[in-house]
Amino acid sequence: MPKRKQSDEIVQTGLVEDELPNPALKKLKSTNGKGKSKLVDPPQYGVRSTSLWKVGAHVSAAGGVENAIINAAAIGANSFALFVKSQRKWTSAPLSETTISNFKARLIEHSYDPRHILPHGSYLINLGNPDAEKRKKSYDCFLDDLKRCESLGLLLYNFHPGSTVGEATTDESISLIAGCINEAHSATQTVVTVLENMAGAGNIIGGDFNHLAKIIEKVDDKTRVGVCLDTCHMFAAGYDLRTKEGWENIVTDFDEQVGLSYLRGMHLNDSKTDYNSKKDRHENIGIGHIGIQGFHHILNDVRFQNIPLILETPSFEKPEVWAAEIAALDGLSGTNAGLDKLGPVVDGVREVVKKASGGAGASSKTKPKKGTGQEGNGEEGQEKIKTRGFRI
Ligand SMILES: [Zn+2]
Ligand SMILES: [Zn+2]
Repeated sequence: MPKRKQSDEIVQTGLVEDELPNPALKKLKSTNGKGKSKLVDPPQYGVRSTSLWKVGAHVSAAGGVENAIINAAAIGANSFALFVKSQRKWTSAPLSETTISNFKARLIEHSYDPRHILPHGSYLINLGNPDAEKRKKSYDCFLDDLKRCESLGLLLYNFHPGSTVGEATTDESISLIAGCINEAHSATQTVVTVLENMAGAGNIIGGDFNHLAKIIEKVDDKTRVGVCLDTCHMFAAGYDLRTKEGWENIVTDFDEQVGLSYLRGMHLNDSKTDYNSKKDRHENIGIGHIGIQGFHHILNDVRFQNIPLILETPSFEKPEVWAAEIAALDGLSGTNAGLDKLGPVVDGVREVVKKASGGAGASSKTKPKKGTGQEGNGEEGQEKIKTRGFRI
């Protein structure tokens, strides 16, 4: 089992308490004795595993993208995802020079490698929309996101391929998506556009690996396109990762259709709904229909090392939930633990979830509270935004 390294250095963050991004960190605030805000010192950052499997979470960027780094470090994440602007609006104010320099400085301070950071695109974007005007609006938002990534020194950008909205064939939408990617590549320099596999509902593109392969085939610069595999989505779309054999078949299928060299990241989510449901409902690790074995396969498969493995599970706005899930997954990675060792891991996660959700966790009725940051990061919020953005 990889040793969990105790952090022995105290890091000055320059973070003042007014900017504190989450409740756990608020507990750490201090004053200088005159009732005035002071630097947080020392911050209680989570212990980071030395595992080669880079587990993290989609953390909040409330108050500025630079805060995402603090939030990731606080939960012991070795990778993270963030929105580079509000995921609910088409446009946002440009990133300030201060934000950009703080972001870059904090990445170095907390030793995050840009290869392990997977920004997530706005849910409003649909590059497959046959309506030219609506597609242009999506494209502008997409291009703006890519430019933000480049200015922050980020290498990857993950997004949902799109939907036919019932007004085009799958192949027509696939061509439109690839066309937008090519255009965006010529308008930017380095950022890699990372297509996400989807749950396979209605008109959504990306439920089948073949959709992703067809998009990539039409992209001119193959060095700037990749794939992010979401476990909940693949399970819902009919890829069964519960057994070792099932997992091996999925990887073989992906390699044959798309190519493992395109894999740039994963979203680790359990599923509230059963196999092949075509529904996109994330559950905490080990307590959904996939179960802990599915994740155990990934965390013992060397082909999945050194890429961001991002949790998008319900956190109930409590950082200890993701911290517990990360620690549980880090504990499994590279161990090839017997299946008998997995039960206690799940019990641990279930316990934390139950507490964080006020006893309502680990049930299919669990939903993040409305009007909270969790709405955006969590799956339920994603569903809401998605249906508002375009017809499924
Ligand atoms: Zn996504
Ligand atoms: Zn999802």
